[in-house]
Amino acid sequence: MVASGLGFDPDALREKYRVERDRRIRPEGIGQYRGVDGEFAGFGDDPHAVPHDREPLTDTVDVLVIGGGFGGLLAGARLRQAGVDGRVRLVDDGADFGGTWHWNRYPGIHCDIESYVYLPLLEELGYVPEWKYSPGEEIREHARAIARHFDLYADAVFQTRVTELRWDEGAWVVATDRGDAIRAKHVIASSGTLSKPKLPGIPGIESFGGHMFHTSRWDYDYTGGDAGGGLTGLADKRVAVIGTGATAIQIVPHLGRDARSLHVFQRTPSSVDVRGNQRTDPEWAKSLGPGWQRRRRDNFLSVVSGVPQDEDMVADGWTGSAELLRKLVHSNAGADLPEDERERLSEIADFQKMNGIRDRVDELVEDPATAEALKPWYRYMCKRPTFSDDYLETFNRPNVTLVDTSAHGGVEAFTEKGPVVGGVEYEVDCVIFATGFSVGFSGVLSGKLPVYGRDGTQLLATWMRGPRTLHGFYSNGFPNLFHLGPLQNAVSVNYVHILDEQATHVAEVIAEAERRGVDVVEPTAEAEERWVGTIREKAHDLRAFQAECTPGYYNGEGMPWPRSEQFGDGPVVFHEVLRTWRAGGMDDVLAGGQA
Ligand code: NDP
Repeated sequence: MVASGLGFDPDALREKYRVERDRRIRPEGIGQYRGVDGEFAGFGDDPHAVPHDREPLTDTVDVLVIGGGFGGLLAGARLRQAGVDGRVRLVDDGADFGGTWHWNRYPGIHCDIESYVYLPLLEELGYVPEWKYSPGEEIREHARAIARHFDLYADAVFQTRVTELRWDEGAWVVATDRGDAIRAKHVIASSGTLSKPKLPGIPGIESFGGHMFHTSRWDYDYTGGDAGGGLTGLADKRVAVIGTGATAIQIVPHLGRDARSLHVFQRTPSSVDVRGNQRTDPEWAKSLGPGWQRRRRDNFLSVVSGVPQDEDMVADGWTGSAELLRKLVHSNAGADLPEDERERLSEIADFQKMNGIRDRVDELVEDPATAEALKPWYRYMCKRPTFSDDYLETFNRPNVTLVDTSAHGGVEAFTEKGPVVGGVEYEVDCVIFATGFSVGFSGVLSGKLPVYGRDGTQLLATWMRGPRTLHGFYSNGFPNLFHLGPLQNAVSVNYVHILDEQATHVAEVIAEAERRGVDVVEPTAEAEERWVGTIREKAHDLRAFQAECTPGYYNGEGMPWPRSEQFGDGPVVFHEVLRTWRAGGMDDVLAGGQA
């Protein structure tokens, strides 16, 4: 039955979502994937690196930062600005700065968050991006420009993986896979959460006789062209892409244009909204006054967090959908709605948003069966929303075929000739895995990088029953060690903004310790206990929502994460909590304990 005034039946849609979710659930959960190690290690090699040897380092630095992506770069930059002028050494696996933008250089790569709020330190570098949504190369160059501007190349170490941190008489001894034993007074860990490519555990991949690579290690020697397209090497090639997430949405238009034939193997369609990229208006760029980026970034964060603003400065798909939801809830009864009524209205706004996304597929895709297969049936934030003005249209090309694998749980097998779905073998020359990344694979949290604190205590052993930190940054027993990333704090889609607030905080704490002559930065056990209590009290229980979502990395492939460790009042309030705490003297961590 169609509910009055809505034009659709919420019960029928809810049921459709459930059916579509149920047929995608796989009992192996994240176990269906494999890492790029063992016989698949070659999938993880850095195509941008020239092999080089160097002698192991045994020197001493003031601050060692693990990770040369935006988190690490911001830590370096904010330390310099806070007046920490000692040696700051960034260490990264890759051959240069940039993190995800170093690794990912696939054709079509763009940031899907507006560049004026995503790229950090624009005012400091006197730079305004050329496009509303920057291409990857512009972002990578900006990362390198930050490193030059703040003199972070001088002590940087690349193609190096940190393998152990051990506290030893007032400093960390940092071991690496190159035999280094660097002493560092402070260590900041910012190694990213989506940095290790993953492959599907499809039987027979190794038997495929053609060419294969992962999107984050694009092989331009094979395809020709560059991130702008022009993949001339594919003109006579039959290409398969496995996966249809945010990455595939950006590469498929180029492959469709340049390959002899393209088969896109889809298990779950993405929501694909309007992009509307445009060049930066030079007059607008000239008109920007001091503080413009902070205002715009704060405005974006507030809007997407549901905090009312007089103006939506960014005005795009992210802010539009957040505003839609907020207005619907508030226009119906003000702020004091009971929780279940808020949820009902939020679900209706979500249905309306997704109906619009599905209508767009019908408008743009000519073949009705293909259009039907490209429609996503789940709530908007179950999967990463995507934006493109040429992805859906690519399926109108005669050389492009969508292969819907949903009835078979994905691509079932590989033979020497290519992927197999529903017993049908698709013969291709090249397979490109757009199958994403292991969540939290790298860094301290995964246990791949063991950390031994005071008395040799192992960090993860003290976190057996969940992380214990103050504000997500540091833990009692592990002096002068700081974590950046999603840990007992508040995150948001503009992740670089979140990292910047975190880096600023850590830099100011370290600078204050130096000013006061405090050698040990470490939260008291009481302060840590209070914060863990706050997190437990405020964290939203997302398990019910996640359990209803179609599987993906947002919900542990349909096996929801045990408990949220996020600050439930959201990032806007969290950042205020940090500022207030800093203004209050920082005594919780600067009491000057034993080394
Ligand atoms: P995702 O994890 O989002 O997508 C992986 C894709 O592979 C999914 O479509 C998945 O299907 C599919 N897949 C996995 N196994 C199989 C199988 N056996 N058969 C068929 N299909 C399979 O990875 P992405 O690289 O696309 O994106 C990862 C993240 O990177 C994004 O969520 C985003 O955070 C970030 N990103 C950001 C961009 C930006 O502009 N800021 C751009 C690109 C990426 P299913 O959905 O059914 O599991």
